[in-house]
Amino acid sequence: MSFEALGLHTSIVKAVSVAGYEKPTPVQEQAVPAGIAGRDLLVSSQTGSGKTAAFMLPALNKFANQEAAPAGRTPAQEAQAAKARGERVRFKPAQPKMLVLTPTRELALQVTSATEQYTAFMRRIRAVSILGGMPYPKQMQLLSRNPEILVATPGRLIDHMESGKIDFSQLEILVLDEADRMLDMGFIEDIEKIVAATPDSRQTMLFSATLDGVVGNMARRITKDPMVIQI
Ligand code: AMP
Repeated sequence: MSFEALGLHTSIVKAVSVAGYEKPTPVQEQAVPAGIAGRDLLVSSQTGSGKTAAFMLPALNKFANQEAAPAGRTPAQEAQAAKARGERVRFKPAQPKMLVLTPTRELALQVTSATEQYTAFMRRIRAVSILGGMPYPKQMQLLSRNPEILVATPGRLIDHMESGKIDFSQLEILVLDEADRMLDMGFIEDIEKIVAATPDSRQTMLFSATLDGVVGNMARRITKDPMVIQI
């Protein structure tokens, strides 16, 4: 099986080849076609199984196939133009198309850097990390560029959401990476709040070492007719 045979856009096939991936891992073989078909996914797999590409490649494929947005100003450029006209500048919230929640800063940074590799040949797809411990002005600057993809730890994301800096009404894809660890760390209420702020029409992909107990419960509540993949 090749990446091309999974139904991925040429720009993505090229990027994974440059990353040195020769063929899909077992989790990618199952998750990528289902993800491209728009299915919700519940995946039990371990770190090192290639799970990042398993959720990121179908998501990027969707964005690659969407029509290019008409050329326009970024929110930051709009704000600058308004300022030049002497108008009061109002902060426009970021409206990401995809959100990846991770338990730790380290994992968030890994996901963001993998995404940068996978988007090397795509236009206008930006991924940024929103993490606890990162200075607020830096995060405001990242959000003002209205990135398509946010990769975040739940706590800091809630702060930005509640202060109106992020609007999830345009969200198309939600990923919970290492969901069992996020629950172990006590993030369940934050996750519930974040999920509630996203549209029901979203595609949801949840990855976890186990799909039993509390995590399985939550997984079934936040997905619709999911395909279950156990590796
Ligand atoms: P992950 O499970 O997403 O943390 O990936 C573990 C490691 O495997 C990372 O270094 C990835 O870059 C790498 N990787 C993911 N998919 C493939 C693949 N199809 N072929 C070779 N390496 C891969």
